[in-house]
Amino acid sequence: MAELFYDADADLSIIQGRKVAVIGYGSQGHAHALSLRDSGVDVRVGLHEGSKSKAKAEEQGLRVVSPSEAAAEADVIMILVPDPIQAQVYEEHIKDNLKDGDALFFGHGLNIRYGFIKPPAGVDVCMVAPKGPGHLVRRQYEEGRGVPCIAAVEQDASGNAFALALSYAKGIGGTRAGVIKTTFTEETETDLFGEQAVLCGGTAALVKAGFETLTEAGYQPEIAYFECLHELKLIVDLMYEGGLEKMRWSISETAEWGDYVTGPRIITDATKAEMKKVLAEIQDGTFAKNWMDEYHGGLKKYNEYKQQDSEHLLETTGKELRKLMSWVDEEA
Ligand code: NDP
Ligand code: MG
Ligand code: MG
Repeated sequence: MAELFYDADADLSIIQGRKVAVIGYGSQGHAHALSLRDSGVDVRVGLHEGSKSKAKAEEQGLRVVSPSEAAAEADVIMILVPDPIQAQVYEEHIKDNLKDGDALFFGHGLNIRYGFIKPPAGVDVCMVAPKGPGHLVRRQYEEGRGVPCIAAVEQDASGNAFALALSYAKGIGGTRAGVIKTTFTEETETDLFGEQAVLCGGTAALVKAGFETLTEAGYQPEIAYFECLHELKLIVDLMYEGGLEKMRWSISETAEWGDYVTGPRIITDATKAEMKKVLAEIQDGTFAKNWMDEYHGGLKKYNEYKQQDSEHLLETTGKELRKLMSWVDEEA
C-alpha cells in the first residue's frame, strides 16, 4: 500500500526557514507561489523577460525577478515552466546559481527521469506534484482544504530531503488532503502512460472512432456527437464520484449489459498488447526522446496533427452544437 502523509507528519517551519524561488507563473506556478507566501514562506517568482504573467504576479503582491536572480537568491528552487523548456532554463539560469545544500524542486519528473537535467551531487532533488490543475490547488488552499499531492526524492544530499518536500507540500495545502510517496521514475512513467493510453490519447481516439462509425453509417453528425462525445462527461463524472460501480448504478440495465458484453470487444487483448508496447517505449526513453526532438525541431508533425483534428467533422459539429448549450462554457 502507498505511504500517506498528512499535516501532522509535515513540519511547516522547515520551508519557512528557507528562501524559495518559483520559476514560472502559469497553472502550477501561481498556485505554489501564492499559497507558499500565504503559509509564511519567503517567496520570489522568477520570470523570463517579456513574461505575460509578470504583471499579474506583481498585482498579487509577489516580488518578481529574473529566473537567474531568483535562483541565486533562493535555496529552494521550484521549476514550474513547461517541461520541454526546463532543461534550457536550467542550463541558462539555474545551474550556475546552485550551491551545495540547495534544493531543486519539480512538479513533474520528466527532465530528471530521462536525464535532460543533471543536478550536481550536493543538491537535494525533490518533487511535489499536486494531482490537479493549479487553479484548483489554489482555490482549495484558500478554502482551507487541499489537493492531494505526490512527493518524491531523487537525490537526498542533505539527508532531510523528504522532510523538506513534505514541508513544501504542507505550504501549498497538499498535506491537508494527503501526500503519497512515490519516485521520479514511477511518477513520470505512469503520468505519461495515463495521458497517452487512457486519459487523452485513448479517449480521444475512442470518441473519434465511435463518431466516425456512426456518421459513416449515415447517421447525423449532430446525433453522433451527442452519443459519442457530449454524454461522456456524465459517465466520467459518475466514475469520478464512485468508480465503475456508481456509473453502472446510474445507467440503464440495457446500457450496463452492453458495457459488459461490448466493452471487451472494443478494448481487446490486441489493444492491451499495444498498451504494453507504449509503456515499454515510455520506460526505455523512446517517447521522451522523440517528443523532445519534435519540440525542438519546430513542432512540425504536432502542428499537422492539431490542424487535421481541428478540421474533423467531430470538431466542426461540436463547435456549432455547443452554441445551443448556454451552460457549456467554451472558456472553462
Ligand atoms: P504553464 O505552461 O502553465 O506555465 C508556464 C509558465 O512558464 C508561464 O509563467 C510562462 O511565462 C513561464 N515561462 C515560459 N517560458 C519561460 C522561460 N523561458 N523562463 C521562465 N519562465 C518561462 O505550466 P504548468 O503550470 O502547466 O506546468 C509547470 C510544471 O508543473 C510542469 O512540470 C508540469 O508537468 C507540472 N504540472 C502541471 C500540472 C497542471 O495542471 N498544469 C499538474 C501537475 C504538474 P509567461 O508568463 O510568459 O506565460
Ligand atoms: Mg502529464
Ligand atoms: Mg444513450
